[in-house]
This record gives sequence, structure tokens and C-alpha cells, in this order.
Amino acid sequence: MTPAPSASSVPSVPSVRVVAAVDIGGTLTKAALVDEGLLEVTRVSVPTPPDVAHDLGAHVSAVVDRLLVGATAAGRAVEAVGCGVVVPGLVDERAGVGLLSVNLGWRDLPIGDLVGVATGLPTVVGHDVRAGLVAETRLGAARGARHALFVPLGTGIAGALMVDGHVLTGGGWAGELGHVPVDPDGPPCPCGATGCLEVLASASAVSRAYRERTGRPAEAREVAARVEAGEPDAVAVWSVAVSALARAVLATVTITGVDLVLVGGGLAQSGETLLAPLRREIDARRTFQRPPRVVHAALGDRAGCLGAACLAWDAARSAVAVG
Ligand SMILES: [Zn+2]
Repeated sequence: MTPAPSASSVPSVPSVRVVAAVDIGGTLTKAALVDEGLLEVTRVSVPTPPDVAHDLGAHVSAVVDRLLVGATAAGRAVEAVGCGVVVPGLVDERAGVGLLSVNLGWRDLPIGDLVGVATGLPTVVGHDVRAGLVAETRLGAARGARHALFVPLGTGIAGALMVDGHVLTGGGWAGELGHVPVDPDGPPCPCGATGCLEVLASASAVSRAYRERTGRPAEAREVAARVEAGEPDAVAVWSVAVSALARAVLATVTITGVDLVLVGGGLAQSGETLLAPLRREIDARRTFQRPPRVVHAALGDRAGCLGAACLAWDAARSAVAVG
């Protein structure tokens, strides 16, 4: 009979240092444990509870526990050194406060404090789209860029700007591209203004405009397919959205000098059906401005979660440097 090895002779598996990255969306919370090389060790996706604002700390803590259990079940020894949480709406990253999220139902929520206490991890808070742009600069379509606009086109439209290598936050108020007015005769926007980009060029705006024009319901991706098939009503609806987007992008290019535009979100899944006419429209409207490169964002719906990991690792490294 072979004697059992003594404890000291069992090779110990070195644990991998990870951060917990959590992207809280209106429908889903996407999370992952991410190592310092920004590789995901394990990931989960769970529904965001409708009353998440009442106990955000408990929700994030439960998600982090699931990640740790998942890593253990997969035989990965991990050591969590921090947590990054990204959320939509107006976010003051410096204070770690969610200033306003209409969808998630909070105002002035001290997210960093709540999650830090609940998880016991040093916690940083970010804006989902700004963090997504950070991830795109390190892993995606903006690698090597100094200036970029990231614009995800989904149910709504948000924006994130990087100028001279810095992502602009404006105390939480920067990048609200969806509420730039582009058509004074356009539809009313829930924000109270008229003709905002979001009510003309978001996926829901395209779907609504098609239904109003034809009396037939269609998701934005179905409208895109009908554009490819040359259906005149779909082409007309699409051109309104493309034109609005071109105006907002060109205004941003003019003000900030960005030379790279990353288009993401559900509507961008139509690929060149959107990007080709968008490039043409920007070029037709452009006078002296430097032509921006307009490309598809690379990280899809993982951008926010990977961005949360980038923020958490940056914080962990600077804590070590300061300490
Ligand atoms: Zn608006």
C-alpha cells in the first residue's frame, strides 16, 4: 500500500490574483473574475432584480460569491483583490456614486461604499460605456488610439469620449450623446427636449419609426434586414437614423477632434448596413474636419464587464504603488 503523501509534499496550486468585474444593466448583470492579463477566469450572467436599488450591495455580493464558487468548482484557486462595478446613467466615478439611473431607479446611490461593505473588497465604480471604452482601448478596436468616441446604439444611446488619452467624465455628466438635439422638428424625447439623437437613431427609435410608417411591428434588426432587401419603407426609416447619427457624430468630431468612432450596441450588429451609409453621410457633411475612422466596436456586450475589470486592476495597482 502506498503511503499517503504528507501535507508538505503535496504540491500547492498557486492561486491566481483576480478582480471581480460586475456590469449592472437594466435587464442583466454580467460579471466575471478577471486576472491581471485581463483574461476571464470564470463568468456569470444573472437577471438584475427589479428592486436592485434597495439592496445593491447584497446583489453584487451574491454575484461575486457565485463567481468564486464557480472558480472553485472549475478547480481554479483564486484570490480576489478588488471589485469593479459599472452602471448606466449619470455616474460620478471619483465619488463612487450613481447620480441618476432612471432604469435602475436610483439617485445619489453610494455604490462604492455599499458594494465595498457587502463584499469586503476594495471597490471602484464606473460608468458602463466609459468603462467599455477603456476596455476597447486595451483589448478591442481602439488599441493604440489617443482620441475616440464610443457610441453604443441600443434601447437608448450613450457615449464615451477619449481625448489625448484621457476618458472624459465631466464629474459624471460627459458623453450624453443621446440627448444632443439633432432635429428641431423631431419627436419628443423622454428627457423633455425635442428631436434628441436617442429618439431618432436608437434601436427602439428605428423600430418605432418603422411601425409608425408601415403599421407593422419590427425589431430594429428586422428593419436592417429589410434595408438589405431594398424595402423602400425600411430604407426611408434607416436613412433618418443614419442622418441623425452622422450629425451628432460630426458635431462631436468638430468639438473634440476625435478621429476614431466605435459604433456598438444592438443596432451595430447590422454591420456595414449601418456603417457604410454612416461613413458616406459623415463625409458628405464634413467640411474642414479630419475624417474619422468609423468602425464596429470589438468587445460587444462584454465591453462593460471588461471595463470594470480594467478599472479594478488600475485601482489595485495604484493602491500597491501608494502603499
Ligand atoms: Zn433627450
